[in-house]
Amino acid sequence: MKSNEEKEQRKKRLNENKHIITVGVILGLLLGAMLGYFVWFMVSERQETMARTENNRYDSAGTRVIRGDIITSDRVAIAYTQPGSTADEDVRVYPFHELFAPISGYTAMGRTGLEGAYHRTMMTTSLNFMEVFRNDLLNQRSMGDRVVMTIDSDLQYYCYTLLGEYNGSITVVDAETGRILAMVSKPTFDPNLVKEQWSELVSEDNKSGNLLNRSTQGLYSPGSTFKIVTAIEYMRENPETYRDFSYTCNGSITIGDHTVHCEGAHGTVNMESAMAYSCNGAFVTMGMTLDRGKYGELIKELGFGSKLIDELPSSKSTSTINRGTDDFEMMQTVFGQGQTMESPLQNVMITAMIANKGVMMKPFIVDHLEDANGIVTERTEPRELKQILTAEQVDYLNQLLTATVNYGTSPQAQSPYCQVAGKSGTAQYSSSLERTHAWFTAYAPAEDTTIAITIMLEQGGHGSPNAAPLASAIVNYLYERD
Ligand SMILES: [Zn+2]
Repeated sequence: MKSNEEKEQRKKRLNENKHIITVGVILGLLLGAMLGYFVWFMVSERQETMARTENNRYDSAGTRVIRGDIITSDRVAIAYTQPGSTADEDVRVYPFHELFAPISGYTAMGRTGLEGAYHRTMMTTSLNFMEVFRNDLLNQRSMGDRVVMTIDSDLQYYCYTLLGEYNGSITVVDAETGRILAMVSKPTFDPNLVKEQWSELVSEDNKSGNLLNRSTQGLYSPGSTFKIVTAIEYMRENPETYRDFSYTCNGSITIGDHTVHCEGAHGTVNMESAMAYSCNGAFVTMGMTLDRGKYGELIKELGFGSKLIDELPSSKSTSTINRGTDDFEMMQTVFGQGQTMESPLQNVMITAMIANKGVMMKPFIVDHLEDANGIVTERTEPRELKQILTAEQVDYLNQLLTATVNYGTSPQAQSPYCQVAGKSGTAQYSSSLERTHAWFTAYAPAEDTTIAITIMLEQGGHGSPNAAPLASAIVNYLYERD
């Protein structure tokens, strides 16, 4: 009995040992294969690096990686790759056609937008080594990393529809963080058809600039939205007395040989009613007392002359104001005409700054990067650029901009859900008074701000009747959907 038992036990142990040996051999082989693969990977990678320039390397990465997706904050893919049997047969798909084109850009004729800025990210995989190894063994390509935007797909679609037939842009920003929630630009293009339509898109006869992201790259005369900037400088230079400002408007103001007109005579105004009625005479009066050097510095401090956003192509807003600016240019600039040129993104940043208790935030459109399994590899943290206003200045500006909506020029921006604060602009873009762009820049709710909105309508006529209702519609939409 006993020897039988021993025999059984020995047999069992022998079997176990066999198992261990088998597992050991398999592990050894696997390790060997992995090491071999690793060495081969390093060598081939090294050779590739040595043989090619940096960018070409990422172009050729398609043989191992399928280009990653671009998705919205609510996880809708706006650009993805339909893999072919080889990388050359891959098709990049933009399922929403024009809707996100100014942001995504394209890959067909060079690369622009996020497709350009995040090319390397999407052509690199952060999946773990084993997963990539298994894919390589199976001769399958691994999925590249994903770009996750701050854009809200429903809000983007709502704003796109709202802009309708206008050329121009709508930009919606979370004032506290600088997150861009919607960015619409028209006219635009279908990134699926860039190759087919290329000659038409870049033709000299095509004056509509379809490939331009008007929010970040469009530069326009700011019109009366610039009175906000003049008001800030006036408050800075007259901290004790700005609340006592008074001016009697009879419909026009003349300085030297130059006359600036108002729309009618506004009578006696203070700073609040001057902003509310958009009195040019009052702002010229305030403006002509300003230190031109300091005014120019404030304009720079607000972002003029700087690149505002890292992820997208953009134009720097421009101003010529400095110590030596002459009276005529100063007179024009302080109420938003003259040579100042501003992008809608710049305008919405100033508005968001007021809304964010005077702190300017860096705008951003990429929330984070992640691998194909959704594991975050890099996140954008909101970044404070500068404290521009004191608490007292914020309160007073808020008073001016709510007055504009409550009893001033822009009742069209009111919302039944909350207090909206804002300023309209009607910017002449040719010598004819009739040819104007329409602006409206706003934040809401004024007492506890969450969002800032800038509407820009090219050849849109007047800001209050045409652009202000769009701001109101966006505020209402955000309330009604929540
Ligand atoms: Zn006036």
